[in-house]
Amino acid sequence: MIMDGSGAPRFTGDVRIAGDRITDIGQLRATASDRVIDANGRVLAPGFIDTHSHHDRGLTNDPDAIALISQGVTTIVVGQDGGGVNRTAFFARVDSQPVAVNVASYAGHGSLRRAVLGADFKRQATAAEVDSMKALLRVEMRAGALGLSTGLEYDPGIYSSRDEVLALARIAGEMGGRYISHIRSEDRYFWSALDEIISIGRALHMPVQVSHLKLGMIDLWGHADSLVRTLNRARTEGVNITADIYPYTYWQSNLGVFYPKRNFADSAESEFVLAHLTPATEIIFNQFPDHPDYTGKTLAQVAQSRGTLPARTLMDLLAMPGGDDAGILAKGMDDADIETLIRWPFANVCSDGELAGRHPRGFGSFAKVLGEYARDKTLFPLEEAVRKMTSLSASNVGLKNRGLIRPGYYADLALFDPAAVADRATFEQPHQQALGIHTVWVNGTVVFQGATATVEHPGRALRR
Ligand SMILES: [Zn+2]
Repeated sequence: MIMDGSGAPRFTGDVRIAGDRITDIGQLRATASDRVIDANGRVLAPGFIDTHSHHDRGLTNDPDAIALISQGVTTIVVGQDGGGVNRTAFFARVDSQPVAVNVASYAGHGSLRRAVLGADFKRQATAAEVDSMKALLRVEMRAGALGLSTGLEYDPGIYSSRDEVLALARIAGEMGGRYISHIRSEDRYFWSALDEIISIGRALHMPVQVSHLKLGMIDLWGHADSLVRTLNRARTEGVNITADIYPYTYWQSNLGVFYPKRNFADSAESEFVLAHLTPATEIIFNQFPDHPDYTGKTLAQVAQSRGTLPARTLMDLLAMPGGDDAGILAKGMDDADIETLIRWPFANVCSDGELAGRHPRGFGSFAKVLGEYARDKTLFPLEEAVRKMTSLSASNVGLKNRGLIRPGYYADLALFDPAAVADRATFEQPHQQALGIHTVWVNGTVVFQGATATVEHPGRALRR
C-alpha cells in the first residue's frame, strides 16, 4: 500500500529501487535481477524527515540512532535554536563517519553571536560586530547550511535587536537559504515574537519557519484558531511562513527560560510564572546541579521537601550555581491547541528530541502522530500525517529529491503497519521504542528491520 508522501490516497503497487534511488513505481513485473520484497499489505511511505532535531548530540558514538530509525525517520535537520557553527567541519565529519540517517543543518545565530561577542553578549551588537557575524554566516552558508536558525528566547540570542536578526537573515536569503526560529517568546510576548518572524518573511521575501509552534502559557490556551488565522493572513499577504510542531504538551528546556528579563530574584515575576505559565506541579526537574535527588521531582515536591513556598523555592534554586541552567520538563500547551495547530496544512511534524533525552519526544513523536493522532483520534487521514512528515517537511526546510516516492528520488523509505504503529516512550521510560515500523531504508540500504538496527550507516550529509 503506497502512500507517496504527497497526501494523495494510498494505492496498491510496487516500488523498484536501484542503488540509492527509486527508479520505478506502479504495477511492476519483476526481472531476473530484482530481489522482491512482499510487504504484505503494509504501508510504504517516504522516510520521515525531522525538521527540528537535536539527535546529533552523541550521534558519533551512537551511529545507529535507534531513536530515529525505529520511528521511520531517515533524515534529521540540526543546527537549531541558534546553535550550530563550523558546518564545514560538521559536514566533513558526517562524510567521514556516516551514521544511519541523513543529516542536514542550519547555521546558528547564537553560535555566531558567541563567536563575535564572546562573554560580553548581554547587549546589542555594534554595526562592526554584525558585519563580523555576516562574514561568518557567509562561510556557513557556503559550507551547505540550509539557512539561519535563531533561538531568541536563549542566551545569547535574546539580547539581539530585531535589526541584527534581520540583517543576518538577509544574508541567508541572498545566498538562497531560509530562516527558522525558536521565536523570541512562546508565552508572555508570543504575538510580538510571531510578528517578528512574519516581518522577516515579508521584508526579505524568504521562507520562514516557526520552530516547535506553541501557545506556551495558560493565558494563551484556547487561542489556536486565532493563531492559525494570523498565519493564514500572513500567507495570503505573500509571506512564505510555515511551522513545525511536536505532539506533546510538555516542553524541555532550562529553568531560566521562564524569565525573559533574567530577573531571577524578582518575586512578583516568580509568582507570575507559576500562576500564568506553568504551575509548580507541572514543572519536573530532569537535571539539577548539586541536587541529583531532585531528578524526576516536580517543583511542588521540591518546595515541600525544602519547606518553602513554590515561588520562593523557584528563586532559591535559581540563585544556586547553575540553577538557571537546570534541565526541566514543563507543561506549556493544551492538547486541544496542539490538535488545532498540527492540523494547519503548513505545519509539519518534528521531534525536538535527542537520542538520550529525558523527554519521550525523542523516541515517540512520529509514531504518536501516525498512531494516536491519525489512526485513533482521526485528526487527519493517514496520508496527511505522512505528508506532514515527508514532502511538506522537505519543502519547509528546502531539501531536494527527498520526501516523495517518485522515480529519481532517493530511496529513503519506511514500511509500517498502520494498525500497529504506536509510540511507547513515556516520561518515566523515554527510551522505549515505537511499535509497528517494519523496515526502514536510507539511500537504498536497510537500516532497521526486525525491531532492530542493521548496523548499516548509509546516511549522508545533506548540503543546501
Ligand atoms: Zn527550541
